[in-house]
Amino acid sequence: MAKIYALPDLQYDYGALEPHISGKIMELHHDKHHAAYVKGANEAIAQLEEVRRSDDFRRISALEHLLAFNVSGHVLHSLFWQNLSPEGGDKPTGELGQAIDRDFGSFASFRKQLTQAAITITGSGWAALSWDPLSRRLVTTQIHDHQSETTQAGVPLLVLDAWEHAYYLQYFNEKAKFFEAVWNLWNWNDVAARFRVAQGVDLKLENVIAPPAK
Ligand code: FE
Repeated sequence: MAKIYALPDLQYDYGALEPHISGKIMELHHDKHHAAYVKGANEAIAQLEEVRRSDDFRRISALEHLLAFNVSGHVLHSLFWQNLSPEGGDKPTGELGQAIDRDFGSFASFRKQLTQAAITITGSGWAALSWDPLSRRLVTTQIHDHQSETTQAGVPLLVLDAWEHAYYLQYFNEKAKFFEAVWNLWNWNDVAARFRVAQGVDLKLENVIAPPAK
């Protein structure tokens, strides 16, 4: 089977994010859930190879869904692990801090917006802070499952897993407590580094943004 995608190691111990996220959740979340998306992504690639080999494209729609769901799950979880740190928390300074103030009004408003985006997800999904290369602004997005409702070309900088597997063993039905606890863990150095790189994305689209009001 094609091995295109690989499960990255965590950069900290399973229990390093306690008490905010339990070691048991981290172990299951990384070793079982994330690993399953990596496996699913590689299987989708292998099945697409088989479809081409047999020249039978009847399952193409299902396989495209399988690929999008699993690759997106792999991307989001890989980001989530790096967005978190035992030394995280507080709030960003510098260029990222200024951009958050500009695009959300204040850090407090951004925090509330992202948290509410996570809390109000129906079913499974994620809340994300993304860079929109079109308007060159930061936005929040509410991602359903791993891939729906996203804005094309948006670059995810910080992602928050709102699937039940991310919190249920520890927080049970009180998911809002989990969405508050993660603010003690955000690795703003990681988010700021992603922000610097994302600003280099150029979609080569002209005249698609309204000129500033006079
Ligand atoms: Fe997850």
